[in-house]
Amino acid sequence: KTSVEITCEQLAEGVLNGDRSMLARSITLIESNAEHHFQKAQTLLQQLLAHTGRAVRIGITGVPGAGKSTFIEAFGMHLCNLGLRVAVLAVDPSSSRSGGSILGDKTRMEQLGRNPRAFIRPSPSGGKLGGVHRKTRETMLLCEAYGFDVILIETVGVGQSEVIVRDMVDFFMLIVLTGAGDELQGMKKGIMELADAIVINKADGENKATALKTKKEYNQILHFLQQATKGWETKACTCSALMNDGIKEIWDMIQDFESTTKQSGVFADRRRSQIKEWMKSMIIDQLQNSFFHNKAIKELLPKVENQVISGNKTVTSAVEELFEQYFKR
Ligand code: GDP
Repeated sequence: KTSVEITCEQLAEGVLNGDRSMLARSITLIESNAEHHFQKAQTLLQQLLAHTGRAVRIGITGVPGAGKSTFIEAFGMHLCNLGLRVAVLAVDPSSSRSGGSILGDKTRMEQLGRNPRAFIRPSPSGGKLGGVHRKTRETMLLCEAYGFDVILIETVGVGQSEVIVRDMVDFFMLIVLTGAGDELQGMKKGIMELADAIVINKADGENKATALKTKKEYNQILHFLQQATKGWETKACTCSALMNDGIKEIWDMIQDFESTTKQSGVFADRRRSQIKEWMKSMIIDQLQNSFFHNKAIKELLPKVENQVISGNKTVTSAVEELFEQYFKR
């Protein structure tokens, strides 16, 4: 529908020159599900690859209402005021967007959305988690090539998406609420073990004292948990995103994290293993796709399924038969 096709070279040049509309068009290309766009997007990324990797990648999660967007607004503004450029991306696993707010929605971060140093991109819609995962990662690379210093990736703390975001960032932050007595009990140990910091938000007004108490409780528990990053002790801290209180301290902590882990080599190690893991998960995705879309498999699968269900074949031999068919050239 666009008048003239823009070439990969033009897009790459635009992104590297800090052209916003070229960045947006490049992201749109990456988010497209059309086969010819896919190839073009890969060519573009290949051209930009040498310019990626320089940003600090920060993941932010928390239940709806914890204050993620308010926090990102305050935190992002703090970074912009320091002269840094910030991109906000989102991983939103919920297929239906009817309930709840849209992650990465500009209207939830009004000030930041207007700041020329900031860029906010909502989560790519629809599709399977694997697809959203790839699109977010590749968008992150585009943003790095463009020159953003900090990438914030927001996700709602429901199930798989935290793990996915943890696997694409350097620093992972969990935003929680005060008065977490019961909540703390119920909170999965798993998610706490992913976090490099636990931020108790809304530590203001009457809530402040409770927040400090909650912080103590979290710190006690964290003491017994496995740390998310080797050589970094995960701690709880308080902040008020609304009052802009404690925001600077969080950025200071992240910088401390960055220099500590860069010095120890943990930072680079993590990035390397993240790439390997990502590649592995893409291989698995592709294999799965190719298998279930294979014409012969599509024919054979219901037949052997019936044989298994009727008790005429074991599952193992059925799977073997399917694979034999699949690899037959
Ligand atoms: P999200 O769903 O995690 O993005 O949460 P929001 O950022 O939309 O915040 C949910 C509600 O909590 C909003 O009404 C915010 O104004 C409020 N809120 C967020 N941060 C704070 C804070 O630090 N203090 C107080 N008192 N309210 C806050």
